[in-house]
Amino acid sequence: RHDPQGGAHFLEDESTKIFAQKVADHYSARSNQTLEEREASPIIHLKKLNNWIKSVLIQLYARRGDAVVDLACGKGGDLIKWDKAKIGYYVGIDIADGSIKDCRTRYNGDADHRQRRKKFTFPARLICGDCYEVRLDKVLADDAPFDICSCQFALHYSWSTEARARQALANVSALLRPGGIFIGTMPDANVIIKKLREAEGLTFGNSVYWVRFDEEFSDKKFKSSSPFGIKYTFHLEDAVDCPEWIVPFDVFRSLAEEYDFELVFAKNSHEFVHEYMKKPEFVELMRRLGALGDGNQDQSTLSADEWEAAYLYMSFVLRKRGQPDKS
Ligand code: SAM
Repeated sequence: RHDPQGGAHFLEDESTKIFAQKVADHYSARSNQTLEEREASPIIHLKKLNNWIKSVLIQLYARRGDAVVDLACGKGGDLIKWDKAKIGYYVGIDIADGSIKDCRTRYNGDADHRQRRKKFTFPARLICGDCYEVRLDKVLADDAPFDICSCQFALHYSWSTEARARQALANVSALLRPGGIFIGTMPDANVIIKKLREAEGLTFGNSVYWVRFDEEFSDKKFKSSSPFGIKYTFHLEDAVDCPEWIVPFDVFRSLAEEYDFELVFAKNSHEFVHEYMKKPEFVELMRRLGALGDGNQDQSTLSADEWEAAYLYMSFVLRKRGQPDKS
């Protein structure tokens, strides 16, 4: 068959699509858990900690009436958090058709869900699509500009190729207004590479997660390799089992600058916890979520293995250059 782009490029495109499909299939197949199943999860406290981190980011940056675009929104686990921030409009996009269906059910008031409730106070648009392939400024031409873009636990799926990593940032940049905020949480490449180098082989982990790098990275140096397409397999008990890609933070930061972003902060999850647990309102939020307890010995908290898994992630805040329109 005729391949105008040349064989190698064609193969790269094909395998990129196959991996994107693998990721979509993995998340689509994960059905909604009941409250009992969720509470019995071996990583329940890690999930609660991650919810706390996302809530803190939202509370720090969302303003009443904001228009929000949530890239890789999943099953809509953050809808409640946005509702509490009293946003004005929400667009959620995810590649996994099953997740978007669950998100729609949750938005419409899921009778089985713990957050059984009246309808959300903001209008929402939920779309199934590949955020790192599609030109979202075209899809969302009538909805943009947005005040905030969030991409939680998902931006690393764009680093399979440079083209996708660029499309991800081009999309966020085109959707945000000047001065708009981009918040996200993703694997911390420094921690993952450090752990890989300390490991005997190409695999490391504990009772709740493991990471396995491909043979091609057996020298563990990455000096000559491109910063895109550094693939590993990630397994997190009761949550994730799919191909992921390293996002070297300094490359991410300079690429983001090309798309008009300036870094507000980037923090590993451990540092994030230490920093924001100094604030009484976030300690109270943590107590309500029940991830770390409030210092009482009998309070349930993360296991050591969950705390180590938390260390694999970092959060970032970027601001789109320019002044917001006063009108
Ligand atoms: N953001 C949600 C949250 O924090 O609860 C979901 C996080 S889940 C770990 C990762 C999500 O990324 C999945 O829902 C998956 O379908 C989505 N995803 C992966 N690749 C994507 C892509 N190319 N475009 C859109 N969504 C994608």
